[in-house]
Parts: sequence; structure tokens; C-alpha cells
Amino acid sequence: MNTDTARQVRALRETVARLHGELTRYALVAWTAGNVSARVPGQDLMVIKPSGVDYDALTAETMVVCDLNGTVVDGGGAPSSDTAAHAYVYRAMPQVGGVVHTHSSYATAWAARGEAIPCWLTAQADEFGGEIPVGPFALIGGDDIGKGIVSTLSGHRSPAVLMRNHGVFTIGRDARAAVKAAVMCEDVARTAHLARALGQPLPMAQADISSLHDRYQNVYGQRSTGGSPGVPRRS
Ligand SMILES: [Zn+2]
Repeated sequence: MNTDTARQVRALRETVARLHGELTRYALVAWTAGNVSARVPGQDLMVIKPSGVDYDALTAETMVVCDLNGTVVDGGGAPSSDTAAHAYVYRAMPQVGGVVHTHSSYATAWAARGEAIPCWLTAQADEFGGEIPVGPFALIGGDDIGKGIVSTLSGHRSPAVLMRNHGVFTIGRDARAAVKAAVMCEDVARTAHLARALGQPLPMAQADISSLHDRYQNVYGQRSTGGSPGVPRRS
């Protein structure tokens, strides 16, 4: 690892450790479930949470650096049990710089029913550009979860997928964007659940959803902090 890469890895260890605090702050995880990773830009490397470590004990030093086959290259502990899924996404989607996984309650309740979340809210149109889709059932361990994430999200506006009977995976241009998508996914899943519990939510016109998404991805926010909040589209 040359000096520049080592500096990037050190900074990403800090960032990824700190972003795990957002998962607990927004109550997206229980016990040691959930994980955040970041791609090391320009390298076939990623920084990811260690397996089975308490959230309170997560520091820059305890993060694990793996190559994009999931092999540990730096760090003493075992990486997250979801490392293969994260690695598969980075290999297949070069525009993705961050991946997050949670079992956040409301979104995972939709995943348990295998039901996509219809776009009933402007906030969902902004962040997800339409429905939040469901991915296939897949067992942990091999490439099946990664394949399910990539096949569902490729060509889709949504940076979040509800993996059936499992939970949420989100992608972003960096780890912070993927964490934001995980927070927003749970927020809209909760509101959609409440709305439907009380009656039949009203549909939104596809043209309005597209207009909101385009504005939010390209105009909204502070220009000086740079770029759109989502994953750059390849089209
Ligand atoms: Zn899981």
C-alpha cells in the first residue's frame, strides 16, 4: 500500500467507524446487526465493519480493510458476515462508493411480505425516484445476496433494495450517501405503513415523481458541498 492509499484508508477507517453511529442514532439496528462499508477510491479495496463487535466498541482501528473478493488485507479482526455482498456490489457497480445493510423495522416488515414500497410521498420521489423495489430471497455466505442487490438496483433509480425475508441494502456514491438512503428508506417505509394502516394512500403521477426526483438529485442542497445526493446515473 503506497503512502497516498494508506492516507485514504486511514481517513475512510475514521469515516466508516463514525457513520456506524448514524445507524444507532436513527435506531436502524439492534445488537451488532447492520454494517457500513466504503470503497477506497481507485483501489480494489474496501473498509468495512468487523463481525460481531458492539457498536460502542467500533473505532477507526477496529474497522477491517478487505480486497474486493472479501479477503482481509489490513486489520486483525474478521470482517462483517455480509462482506461478500458488499464486495460483489463494488465489483459489479463501479459507480458505487458506499454500501449499507440494516434490518430496520418498518422497511424489513415490507421485505418480510416481499412487497415493494409504492411511491406515495414526495420525500420518496426525491430520494428514490419511485417505488423501493424488492430483491430475491438469498442465503448469506456466497454471492447470492450481492447478485440479488445488483440485479434489482441496476437501471433502477432507487438506491435501496428490500431483500425478501431479510432487510435493506443501500448504495451511494460514498458511504455517507448510502447511510442517508438507509435512514430515508426506514422513514418512508414507516410513513407508508402508517398511511396504509389508516386507509388507501393516494397514488402520485409518474411525471410528478420524475420531476421531484430530477430536482432533488440535481438542484436541491448546498452546491458548495458538491454533487447530487444519489448514485450518479450512467445514462
Ligand atoms: Zn442481514
